[in-house]
Amino acid sequence: MALVVQKFGGTSVGSIERIEQVAEKLIATRKAGHDVVVVVSAMSGETNRLIELAHAISEHPDPREYDVLVSTGEQVTIALLSMALHKRGCDAVSYTGSQVHILTDSAHTKARILDIDDSRLRRDLDNGRVVVVAGFQGRDEHGNITTLGRGGSDTTAVALAAALKADECQIFTDVDGVYTTDPRVVQTARRLDCITFEEMLEMASLGSKVLQIRAVEFAGKYNVRLRVLSSFEDGPGTLITFEEETMENPVISGIAFNRDEAKLTILGVPDQPGVAYQILGPIGEANIEVDMIIQNVGADDTTDFTFTVHRNDFDKALAILTRVSGELGAREVTADNAIVKISLVGVGMRSHAGIASTMFEALAKEGINIRMIATSEIKISVVVDEKYLELGVRALHDVFKLEQSPVV
Ligand code: ASP
Ligand code: MG
Repeated sequence: MALVVQKFGGTSVGSIERIEQVAEKLIATRKAGHDVVVVVSAMSGETNRLIELAHAISEHPDPREYDVLVSTGEQVTIALLSMALHKRGCDAVSYTGSQVHILTDSAHTKARILDIDDSRLRRDLDNGRVVVVAGFQGRDEHGNITTLGRGGSDTTAVALAAALKADECQIFTDVDGVYTTDPRVVQTARRLDCITFEEMLEMASLGSKVLQIRAVEFAGKYNVRLRVLSSFEDGPGTLITFEEETMENPVISGIAFNRDEAKLTILGVPDQPGVAYQILGPIGEANIEVDMIIQNVGADDTTDFTFTVHRNDFDKALAILTRVSGELGAREVTADNAIVKISLVGVGMRSHAGIASTMFEALAKEGINIRMIATSEIKISVVVDEKYLELGVRALHDVFKLEQSPVV
């Protein structure tokens, strides 16, 4: 017998009919002999509706009251699901986050879980009950209700699985797993049986639509086996786990991309100590996150400095850079917000040479100009013109044969 934590997202509990289906699924899990703790989100659309209500009163609602309000969505679902279980003769009990002592810090609207007292949960499990817990919420040390940020129910599920040392944390959602890339861009994209935590974090631009990234970090840190699977069809989903445990060992696991990039260059800045700081200091102070950074080899005592930011920050960053350029006596500022980033991700890169050249060759064959390159141990990213996104991702998916299952 195993202990599993199963989490059902908003669409999976979006109507009474679907809640009844979830109840059926849980009954099946129990029949298979497993103990189960269920975490649910609010019914789809409900959290948005509550947020709109708050904003109808105030543009900046008090964060404490905001959390009191938006945490109610999940409270509705836990009660309904328990009732659906009772109707089927299954002993079940529902709890809000606060009732099971999910202790968080006091950062309302984006609180972090600090501790969970699992004694009440254990008692119920020992008594053969299905325990239904509201996702996305907890309480701080002063007893205030807190929420964990959008998509936070995933984190609740992982945290409970960690506290209870569950055998697996299963996230049921409206897709059947994590794919080699976005199937809307590449039709032959394939569901992965397995992916490592590290890869999943690098795939964030794709993965975050499937799982809250904070939940993945948490699971990696606390050794929780995490599985993403569909609420609507049967299937094994994708297991997110440690490298040693993965069955497949492909060189490349997937291709992530990011459409929201912008790049800025300052040309002809003096090549002397402190310049990078003088450029990026004010950008950081303006709370603009910088992604890639490249500085050229200096020539004639000057150098060129390029970096990328989120497209939403483009205008702000350009204004700052133009000012800094004047102060530094740089030659020119150039900028481009019609760029995208494409990344190859795979832990197998560590032990395989020649991945980068295969990547660059594939892009060259399509006539795609690479504007920037950055590498880390398990990722190679290129910046290209926006119009080449689909073409580039498809070419790379093809050349690395990601549509085929790797040979075990
Ligand atoms: N109901 C919350 C949201 O919509 C939390 C969650 O679904 O994970 O963000
Ligand atoms: Mg969600």
